[in-house]
Parts: sequence; C-alpha cells; structure tokens
Amino acid sequence: MPDLLQIGGITDTMRERLSAAFTIHQLDHFDPEKITHIVTNGHSGVAPDLMASLPNLKAVSGYGVGYDAIDATEAARRGIIVTHTPNVLNQEVATTAVMLMLACYREVLRDDAYVRSGEWETKGGAPLTRSADNQTVGILGLGRIGQAIADKLAPWNAKIIYHTRNPKDVPYAYYDNLTDMARDADVLICITPGGPSTNKIVNAEVLAALGPQGTLINVSRGSVVDEKEMIKALQDGSLGWAGLDVFEGEPHVPQALRDLHNTVVLPHVGSATVETRAAMGALTVDNLLQHLKDGTVISAVPECAHL
Ligand code: NDP
Repeated sequence: MPDLLQIGGITDTMRERLSAAFTIHQLDHFDPEKITHIVTNGHSGVAPDLMASLPNLKAVSGYGVGYDAIDATEAARRGIIVTHTPNVLNQEVATTAVMLMLACYREVLRDDAYVRSGEWETKGGAPLTRSADNQTVGILGLGRIGQAIADKLAPWNAKIIYHTRNPKDVPYAYYDNLTDMARDADVLICITPGGPSTNKIVNAEVLAALGPQGTLINVSRGSVVDEKEMIKALQDGSLGWAGLDVFEGEPHVPQALRDLHNTVVLPHVGSATVETRAAMGALTVDNLLQHLKDGTVISAVPECAHL
C-alpha cells in the first residue's frame, strides 16, 4: 500500500477510510523516500523543509479550505497537487460570523453572566443592548463564505457593502479602499484567506475608521488583523466591540484580550460541527482516494488546478 503522512488530527471515519488504502505514518516515524501522499489541516499545513525532504510526494490533501500554511506555489512547481475543502463549510462558517455579530450586539455573554451571578434578582433588569437589525455590514473578502454571510444577514435587513481586490458581479456597493469601507460600516466582517497579501490589512487606520460604535468580526485568519492595535482600540474605546474566532498566535490568546469585556472570543470553531466536519473529512479523503485511482482530484487549490 502507498505511504501517507498524517499531519495534525483526523476523525475516526477518515482514519478508517484512509487505512483501507494507505499505510498511515505519523510525523515522529516515517521514511521520507516512501511518502507519496499527505493529509493535513489548515492549522498545521506542511512545513516548507518537510515538503522539500519528500522526493516522491505527489499529493497533499488539506482538511479545511484555507491553505495559507501550505506553499501551494512551490508544490505546483514540483508537480505536487494540493487539495482543500471549499463550499462544504460555507454555511457553518457564515453561521459562526453571524453568531459572533449577534452576540456582540445583544451582549449575550454579559447577560448570561448577569443571570448566573444572581444580579438579575438583586439589581433588576439588565442594561439595554443594541439592535442588530438594519446595520451596514462591510464584508472584507466576498468569496464563497463571504457571500453565504451576506445571504444569512438578509433577515436582519443588513445593507451589505464589500471590499476585495477585484469587484464581483453582485448587487452590493464595492469599495476599492478598505478604510473607506470601514468608515461607512457598522460592522466589519473579515473572511479573506490568510497569507502575505492580507497580512494585518485591518490596521490601526481601518480600526479607527470603524470607530467607537463599530464592531469587528474576524472569522478569517488571525494574521488579517493587527492584533496589538485591535487590543489597544478595544481598551481605549476607539473600537466598540470585537467577535473573534481566530488569533495571531493561536491557541495563545493575549491576556489583555482575554480580560476585555467588549469581546466575544471563540477557539477557531468556524466549521467545527459534527455535520460539517464529516463533510470536510469525506472530501479530504475522497481527494486522496481519487488521486490514488486515476491521478485526478476533486477540489485542487487554484495554484494546482492545471496539474
Ligand atoms: P474564497 O477564495 O472563495 O474567497 C476569498 C475572498 O477574499 C475573495 O472574494 C477574494 O477576492 C478576497 N481576497 C483575497 N485576497 C484579498 C486581499 N488581499 N484583499 C482583499 N480581498 C481579498 O475563500 P472562502 O470564502 O472559501 O474562504 C475564505 C477564508 O476563510 C479561507 O481562506 C480561510 O482563511 C477562512 N476560513 C476560516 C474558517 C474558520 O474556522 N474560522 C473556516 C473556513 C475558512 P479577490 O481575489 O478579488 O481579492
């Protein structure tokens, strides 16, 4: 059987299906000459020196849609096909973004704590919150998931505006400048890929434009937001609220951020439901099995689509 290197965690179902077709090796014990396939995830990716040390590598299957931790350009140059799991997670990640937005607006965590602490009984009704209806929502990255977020916000009567590098054929106002969009938005939702082109594009200037009444939602990658500047702005009130699923040095989250009350923080669970992870796992395995069968894959990343 061909040799598969496993990087990061996989589900029991994935292991069962993969072990019927491959000998699975863990990172602590494998022969670099023998490895032809890799299964990995969006967090772990494939370290460049590891990829360089595998002369017979043919395909890398990523369990996730983001592949900023895999050098797909270098893989394509070597004829290695990289695959990912687009579309099957769109709705789940969009739900996470909307959930974070609603949790910020309606102060879900504060009010939950208010009930649990007994303050409701001793102090009376909780302070009022803000309505999430009729807001202008700026989407940074209107791709597969960004569009699903826009669709899910329709019942809240959101006015959608967006920033990407290239305008899309959509009925929303396009901004070629992110700061200008942030100035016009009540909420800024980040859902671009990570990597060098988006590194810290949500900088101090963008955060200031979003302003004291503004809400930042990040379900993309921690690298997209300048975390130090965001913490400063949340501390001094020049940014109102933040709902965050991803962090620069995750799973480490700076204490200053954990201490803030105008934030809702999640441990990178955008797609983490039983149903969606099953669909992602199935596609991750299907890509590898199809590659084994006839050398083709179902969902190559754009850099490898020509292979
Ligand atoms: P798509 O490729 O469909 O969409 C990406 C969008 O980002 C496009 O509209 C693209 O438009 C835009 N974009 C890319 N680079 C830039 C840039 N430098 N500046 C502005 N806009 C940019 O990806 P998906 O919607 O499928 O996924 C998006 C990302 O979401 C993933 O790459 C991943 O990082 C993140 N994600 C997070 C999850 C979580 O658990 N929190 C789960 C799943 C995904 P254009 O090319 O015109 O700029």
